[in-house]
Amino acid sequence: MMTDNRKSCNFIVQLMIGFFWSMPLVATTINFKYHISTDKALTQVTVKLCVGDRAIYGLRSTSRHSQKLLTWLSKEFQMHFASGNRIKFKQALKNQCIKYKIDLVAAEKMLARSLITRFGTDLLLSPSFWLFLPNNTSEKDQVRATLSLPKGMSFSTPWQKIAGDNDNRIHYRIKITPDNWSSLLAFGYFKIIKIKADNTNLRVALINELRFKTVNKIKLWLQAAVKAVTSAYGQFPVHNPQILVIPSSSSGQAVRFGQASQGGGHGIQFYVNPNRPIEEFLDDWIAAHELSHLFLPELDHEGTWFSEGVATYYQNILRARVGQLSKQQAWQEIYDGFLRGMQGMSSKNLRQATLNMYRDHSYMRIYWSGTAITLMADIELRIKTRGRLNLDKLLKKFNNCCSSQMTEWSLTDLFRKFDELANVPVFMPLYRRYAQSKKFPATTGLLTKLGVEVVKGKVTLKNAAALSEIRRRITENKKPGTP
Ligand SMILES: [Zn+2]
Repeated sequence: MMTDNRKSCNFIVQLMIGFFWSMPLVATTINFKYHISTDKALTQVTVKLCVGDRAIYGLRSTSRHSQKLLTWLSKEFQMHFASGNRIKFKQALKNQCIKYKIDLVAAEKMLARSLITRFGTDLLLSPSFWLFLPNNTSEKDQVRATLSLPKGMSFSTPWQKIAGDNDNRIHYRIKITPDNWSSLLAFGYFKIIKIKADNTNLRVALINELRFKTVNKIKLWLQAAVKAVTSAYGQFPVHNPQILVIPSSSSGQAVRFGQASQGGGHGIQFYVNPNRPIEEFLDDWIAAHELSHLFLPELDHEGTWFSEGVATYYQNILRARVGQLSKQQAWQEIYDGFLRGMQGMSSKNLRQATLNMYRDHSYMRIYWSGTAITLMADIELRIKTRGRLNLDKLLKKFNNCCSSQMTEWSLTDLFRKFDELANVPVFMPLYRRYAQSKKFPATTGLLTKLGVEVVKGKVTLKNAAALSEIRRRITENKKPGTP
């Protein structure tokens, strides 16, 4: 079983493939409609853009290559590129439409594979280099897209479908999210399946479908991960997320890599080897990990240790709750992870190490320090509220009040909010104790108190320790709402 996080997860912002909206204050909301179409072979994408009654003087993308890829089709409307990604108009655009097309074949040669990649007849495409937006946008703006696709072509997106379509075209509402949040759209001839959660459906696109001999394998694997994640508080944390399952046959593992993104809505990409046996898929932790990222909003860079900590903590305890791991296995994973975290220590404190994580490759220290602090928070919540609250219930409370805001949270704002919702100080005291600390959080004594005994590296669970009952409750599968 893969138990470390060297198969790296990239929940965190990817600056270069960011979805590109800035958010200064604006006087009135923008009413913006895209009409997107493409050809059968996906050689180009044509965008008709209609704006409402707020005057627009310029548009921008996030790629300096956009200028080389774009052909302006509204000759009557004068524009020029102020830089590779900024269009300026001679007179304001207001209650009008413009049209342009983007050369996707040239884009493939020019841009990184994270922005455009072809898999057989399917194309994964970041909207960041071709879906131009006005310079100033805000969360309140109404941005919609309508798609006209060749017969038989599928489309996958994190955008939410607008209900009540009565023509053949598909309409979407695009959430305005910060510039540096990434997203991927998929166009092509793939199958989309639905995975049911209690309160929503996951829209799963099987990219390059012919490679998937058994769709059922993918279904069973994702259903298991949904079941684990739903056991936290009885409902799936977000509505209708986009899931892309992308074949990666060179991988010796069933699941090679996973990545969550929040640009324009919630999306997760999995790279898998569909030829590996179902048992390997079901044994893998990545799906539970990536779906657990959806419990939290996007955090600032410093917050990476906590978002990875929560996902790593839950990938183990939620799978134990629903019987996908034994309780012993889950605590063994956590103990082994803490050891790897301790071995990965450096002279930097947790905050500095997180800010330098990609340069220093200090993943083990960051992920497992975050897991240790998440475990501590869960225990403290249970003790300080005499069982009234735990991490699951707090995340549910947060989800109900605050998580729909598609804005980035600073870690300290999130912790203050958590303490306010819990009505007891748990997260900020832990932050003050550990963010500036150069030592791995003190877990040895804590595990002993929980009845997690280790002899020659092997974990056994004891029921007579001071916090054994709390340990038992952490992996207990109880109905939501019960104490
Ligand atoms: Zn992660």
